[in-house]
Amino acid sequence: MTDSPLVAIVGSGPIGSAYARTILENAPHARVVMFEAGPQVTTPAGSSVRNIVDPDEKARAREMSQGPQAGAFRESLGIPAGAVVEGMFTARQGTHLLDFGGEGSAHAPTSPAAAAATNVGGQGAHWTCAIPRPAFSEKLPFIDDEEWEELISTAEGLLHHQSAAFTASPVGAAIRDLLTAEFGAELPDGYGVSTLPVAGDPQPDGSMRWAGADTVLGPLLDDTSELSSRFELRDLTLVRRIEHDGGVVTGVTVEDLRTGETTVVAADAVVVAADAFRSPQLLWASGIRPAPLGRYLTEHHVVISTVALDPERMAARVTDEELAGELARRAQNPADPVAAVNRIPFSEPDHPFSLQVMYAETPPFPLAPDHPAAGNRWGFVNMGYGVRKRPRVEDGVRFSDEELDYRGLPNMTIEYALTEVEEAEIAAATERLGRAGAALGTFVAGPRLLPNGSSLHFMGTMRAGTDAAESVADPYSRVWGFENLVVGGNALIPTANTMNPTLTSVAIAVRGARALAGRLAGGALADEVRAG
Ligand code: FAD
Repeated sequence: MTDSPLVAIVGSGPIGSAYARTILENAPHARVVMFEAGPQVTTPAGSSVRNIVDPDEKARAREMSQGPQAGAFRESLGIPAGAVVEGMFTARQGTHLLDFGGEGSAHAPTSPAAAAATNVGGQGAHWTCAIPRPAFSEKLPFIDDEEWEELISTAEGLLHHQSAAFTASPVGAAIRDLLTAEFGAELPDGYGVSTLPVAGDPQPDGSMRWAGADTVLGPLLDDTSELSSRFELRDLTLVRRIEHDGGVVTGVTVEDLRTGETTVVAADAVVVAADAFRSPQLLWASGIRPAPLGRYLTEHHVVISTVALDPERMAARVTDEELAGELARRAQNPADPVAAVNRIPFSEPDHPFSLQVMYAETPPFPLAPDHPAAGNRWGFVNMGYGVRKRPRVEDGVRFSDEELDYRGLPNMTIEYALTEVEEAEIAAATERLGRAGAALGTFVAGPRLLPNGSSLHFMGTMRAGTDAAESVADPYSRVWGFENLVVGGNALIPTANTMNPTLTSVAIAVRGARALAGRLAGGALADEVRAG
């Protein structure tokens, strides 16, 4: 190893960024080069598109993140013309469906809404920024509570955690009051109705500056920081292969998508944080194929609805002046319609769900002018129950050596099915959503299960664990059998999870990055990690 070891990171989302920051802070001589297949769409690099106020600029940043579906911007992304069929079904703004239906598309009839983002900052430039902590059986079984507490607190610091966001909202408080009246008696202490922790920085005008990869990178993007001199981010650079020999990685083969030039970059360690589908795809393409790779795919299924808040019940809890104040606050940032976010967290045994309740002034779809709830001055909530999926080896993504995708990498087929265990919990969540809606007002869109893939929280395909037969990575996120290959992202979460996973994945990344930094420094941590 050189005096100034180089770590190559694949992917610039929150997890690759957590690795970059933690490695550089803990290994004083290390350097990091981060490769990102997508373009930089915001300034600073990796910041949330939701912070862009100008609607045209925001739309352009989203479109440029949509990989093969990037419309007018496709040619600038290095994607060959003709690789897609125009007019296809599109995904959530800023993301692109894996199964987009054109040439080189993945095959995902059992998970049609599965999607990804291809841009600096990854999905973390488009996310909703909800960062609840995992609870009970959602937590990783191989990390003890004391260490977990420290890791998750560090992750919250990296993401600029806010538990008090929107606590001042009187409408938000009224929603909590009504939900507590309906459900409070059934929920254990500490797991009742509360505000949902989010990632970002409250602004003086009451709005939020939402967190993205830029928040996690922090000083690495600051020219005056020493850390930035050891960090390099290369956008529009696709990693095609991890080079390795006898359980040791030696570097990565990268393609500059602007020029088409391919080079091998030597590295002392490689971190792959390229999302739950494309990370295992890259390992597979590189001939790294442990049996659990791509298997045990989970997400949390989502039963959603939209409710018009009941004018009488709200007026009993919120004065006209308070409502006027709230509307004035929101008018300052009309580009960001979310005004208050509440939740009921997962708890066992009686509430194995996560309810997320987003208050907004308008519904997410237009209402006919003669609809009884049209123009409801008290506003609406969009709310949904996250329902867990039990990990099974049958669910996963397979890679083909014969058929290549639009990037020339092994094409993917998703195999996924709900079992009667999930169906029963989905039915129970649907019933609860009915109660929640009735407690708050009137449904303008009744409870319905979103198609598989809709959560965008894909887990399990490179699970971490203590048994190499059932996991891809060891408890420090190192790929079994490799000295210096580390993986990161939601794919490492081995448990059945009902909620937003990014905070958990950042905590796991902090642990893996500290261990890697220790190995790079050749210090005591390295020995401890090997022994452990
Ligand atoms: P990503 O952010 O997906 O980044 C991976 C990056 O790797 C991508 O930019 C990709 O282009 C790049 N890449 C892939 N292959 C290669 C390659 N071969 N070479 C180079 N680069 C490559 N999570 C929450 O916890 N809370 C939320 O409220 C929430 N809301 C969301 C809302 C939306 C609309 C979306 C889209 C996502 C949401 N998420 C949420 C999910 C969250 O954004 C992800 O969990 C998080 O971004 C994962 O981080 P990551 O770094 O592992 O992967």
